[in-house]
Amino acid sequence: MGSQVDRVADIWGERTPYERDSSWPARVDEFLVDGVSEAEVQRWVRGACLLCSNGCGIEVAVRDGTIVGVRGRAEDRINHGRLGPKGLYGWQGQQRDRLTAPLIREQGRLVETDWDTAIGRVVERSRALLDSERPLSHGFFTSGQLMIEEFYTLAAIGKGGIGTPHMDGNTRWCTATAAAAFGESFGCDGQPGSYTDIDHCDAIFLFGHNVAETQSVLWARILDRLDGPNPPRLVCVDPRRTKVAERAEVHLPILNGTNLALMNALVHEIIAAGDVDRGYVDAHTIGYDRLVEVVADATPEWAGQICGVDPAEIRHAAEIFGTSERVVSTCSMGFYQSHQATAAACAVNNLHLLRGMLGRPGAGILQMNGQPSAQNNRETGCGPALPGFRNWANLEHVQELARLWNVAVDKIPHRAPPTHGMELFQLAETGSIGFLWISGTNPAVSMPDLNRVRRILSGDQCFVVVSDAYATETTELADVVLPSALWAEKTGTFTNVDRTVHLQEKAVNPPGQARGDLEIFLDYARRMGLTDRDGRPLPAWETSEQAFRAWQAATADRPCDYTGLSYAQLHQVGGVQWPCNPTHPSGTERLYVTPSSRPTRRCARPSDTTCPPGRRPTRTPATPCIPRDAPCSRQSPSNRPTSCPTSTTRSD
Ligand code: SF4
Repeated sequence: MGSQVDRVADIWGERTPYERDSSWPARVDEFLVDGVSEAEVQRWVRGACLLCSNGCGIEVAVRDGTIVGVRGRAEDRINHGRLGPKGLYGWQGQQRDRLTAPLIREQGRLVETDWDTAIGRVVERSRALLDSERPLSHGFFTSGQLMIEEFYTLAAIGKGGIGTPHMDGNTRWCTATAAAAFGESFGCDGQPGSYTDIDHCDAIFLFGHNVAETQSVLWARILDRLDGPNPPRLVCVDPRRTKVAERAEVHLPILNGTNLALMNALVHEIIAAGDVDRGYVDAHTIGYDRLVEVVADATPEWAGQICGVDPAEIRHAAEIFGTSERVVSTCSMGFYQSHQATAAACAVNNLHLLRGMLGRPGAGILQMNGQPSAQNNRETGCGPALPGFRNWANLEHVQELARLWNVAVDKIPHRAPPTHGMELFQLAETGSIGFLWISGTNPAVSMPDLNRVRRILSGDQCFVVVSDAYATETTELADVVLPSALWAEKTGTFTNVDRTVHLQEKAVNPPGQARGDLEIFLDYARRMGLTDRDGRPLPAWETSEQAFRAWQAATADRPCDYTGLSYAQLHQVGGVQWPCNPTHPSGTERLYVTPSSRPTRRCARPSDTTCPPGRRPTRTPATPCIPRDAPCSRQSPSNRPTSCPTSTTRSD
């Protein structure tokens, strides 16, 4: 049973402090609309909040076919029952001002119609273009708002049924940096860390991430660690004096656009101080020597001038990173939507690689997303990647997909790089893309150069279909508008930032004629007559659970392996982390776990002595410089890590 709370007046709620390596206490937040008591709730329907990348486990209260409240799921691994203001109250907005009927443009005006007429017009234009202009005439632009089943169905339609490379989403101007940085650093998208790393860490670095406002439940978890025994040290990189900055041991209010200079200085300091875990670096990374060269001159003084912060504070932050045993780093919009975004996000990954801070409790990276389902856009192939993080340039990956969908290899676009979002609209501007379907996003507001975008969407050169739950600036310009169901009006899954998959079960019917996007996409595919090589319908599924099983098959032996999951399991336990397969039936807490994933050495901080190449400074005047990879020593017994045998220490 939960308690009624006011999460607007008291955003993070009362503290439930806990100590390192213990479990975050549960605290169930609940909100029921005025006049409704718990006894009057007829059903509690399980699911998760998708209003930020935390993805908190939730139960939806239903009475007389209407949502009347929500409460957190105490047993869910993400929130232990807590909900923030958006999760508690945001759902009320979805009950107002909805699109309830399809719209078609007649003599310049959008008028209401029925589904057959609306989807018939979509299919008529799509089929004509496909027959005359071929697949490159089609483009699909999505969002972080759909569910896995819907995304994967659209990917199968776009890349397997039609065969167009013109697919991207608004994630392109949001958190695409996270995917790009993981690709650069680890060769594949996918978050290494886990939210439980907050429970085990002894330092937290928040890079351009105002977690207090954007992910209030995660901040509540951090606050509870900060107010408990052995609190983690907190470092905040943000130009503003945020709530996070107020609690930080080090706040680096760097100038906008100077993230990379700061990151290079932090990397420089970790190397110069001899805090690199050479065993880890040698075993698991490439390019270390080149990195040393790149940051050789990136001193705190150099970065301090560029960033507008005190070099001593940069050193202070580096000291925390370099001497902590377990560091969690998070990265968000302050890095992603700034100069040199991918390079700066990669530098965060580099800090962890240099310190061997991966694959063990308390040591992890969380490159944040906007919503849980932004991750699914990337996984399922509605963006540039092929489904299951497959690479369009890898013929084996393309062949695997062709077998899954039973289509010819050449049907799947892979001869050239996929089209990114900006190109997609450029092609629509010229009419090269003559059919553009936009799902759950509002590019007429969110894209750069809005006058041009609005001109593109309203012109005759491109037929624009928009499926959305609300009337927006983009639906106003469409040729056909299809009303979509929202969260809790349909069943489906989505995956948050620490790879936790949740099942949202249908609680209520959508308003009027609105339909779930899965139903909309399948209706389009059937009317288009999309088939596989044997003439069977493509996609070959009908229900959301069938779509999920098809998605599971697409992920077998891929990094994002969902094959061990089921709707029944997700209903029962709440969130489960991928990869989940017969080897890891309960999911996988962390990626990149290696035999050498152990606490790194904590060396005493050295002096500021400048040493020749290949050597690092020490605090001992008699031997001011020693080989860079010499083991650390002169540690107090309490400071000596268990993994650093006494015989390997030496006096410096
Ligand atoms: S922290 Fe995020 S997922 Fe959790 S309730 Fe708030 S908005 Fe929803």
